[in-house]
Amino acid sequence: MKPMIQMEETPVNEAVAWESVLHRDPSADDRFLYGVKTTGVYCRPTCPSRRPKRDNVAFFSSVEAAERAGFRACQRCRPNMAKSANSGVERARAYIDTHIADFADERMTLELLGEQAGLSPYHLQRKFKELVGLTPAQYIRARKSERLKGELKRGETVSRATFGAGYGSSSRVYDDAPARLGMTPATYRRGGAGARIDYVITNTSLGALLVAATDRGVCAVKLGDDGKNLEAALEQEYPAATRARVAAPTSALSVWVKEIVDAIDSGTTRPDVPIDVQASAFQWKVWRELQKIPIGETRSYSEIAGAIGAPKAVRAVASACASNRVALVIPCHRVVRQSGALGGYRWGVERKQRLLAKERATRDESTS
Ligand SMILES: [Zn+2]
Repeated sequence: MKPMIQMEETPVNEAVAWESVLHRDPSADDRFLYGVKTTGVYCRPTCPSRRPKRDNVAFFSSVEAAERAGFRACQRCRPNMAKSANSGVERARAYIDTHIADFADERMTLELLGEQAGLSPYHLQRKFKELVGLTPAQYIRARKSERLKGELKRGETVSRATFGAGYGSSSRVYDDAPARLGMTPATYRRGGAGARIDYVITNTSLGALLVAATDRGVCAVKLGDDGKNLEAALEQEYPAATRARVAAPTSALSVWVKEIVDAIDSGTTRPDVPIDVQASAFQWKVWRELQKIPIGETRSYSEIAGAIGAPKAVRAVASACASNRVALVIPCHRVVRQSGALGGYRWGVERKQRLLAKERATRDESTS
């Protein structure tokens, strides 16, 4: 047996990672890099270069790990360069999201954002437009107007959500400025400190299901082989929240769980539940677009990017899909690669495949 290159930091599931490399899965670009032992070069999963032989590949969780192992960055996909620009853009966007209320437009300058991002103002402007689909100034304006609308509607939205089971149409809730509905950014950043999260673990035709909720809505929906692992993942996501596994959930939570179980087991329904997660305006935009995909159909990352008016932001769309924390409620399983290949799924590619097969069968029955 060949000696394995020592893995560092977060271990990568190699079988899944290799699938992502074969399919050039854009959502994998944020997760790992691969090195080719015969050339000594490391790449992003989406690198346009020819696919190496599996035996020659080593996986790394970071640029640092790849370089420590003696690999050098590929000249085509530039895994070391673009990555820092991506995270710079992420930092600038996070800065805008958290400071939008404190600043008048004219004070949130490109220079200031560049400082936050660790990029020159010019480079930030260009990269931001490329990844987010808007310039920083356009993004700030969009956030401001959303905020204003959200504030007007907040009272109604939150009280509706609190009643949980008491309202009929999910589209109504999603249309009502969902970004405002969520946990506050501060609460989310502090690992859910101050939030109370009740959760239920149950079995479905796709394995174990965990549904967690605050009193305002569902904050995590996870699928897996084993309830214990799902519980651990919830703890990792909200380490500071007061978490309680409940045997007899409140009427709202039990309705939400039933909605989700029905969606999994029947493949015919859309879970009609309020969502309580913190996300950027861009993530919400992508997620709402996913909720429009009819059951039994799929879309590619670039179709979603086109639908939200940011045709070049394919990578950002892929990472917004990958960052979905509420399986099924936001149906990220309906996004596949342009080639028709399945692409990744946070809760297991095999589950994605089974879900899609079930939904397709349902559609075919209803149209035949
Ligand atoms: Zn490359």
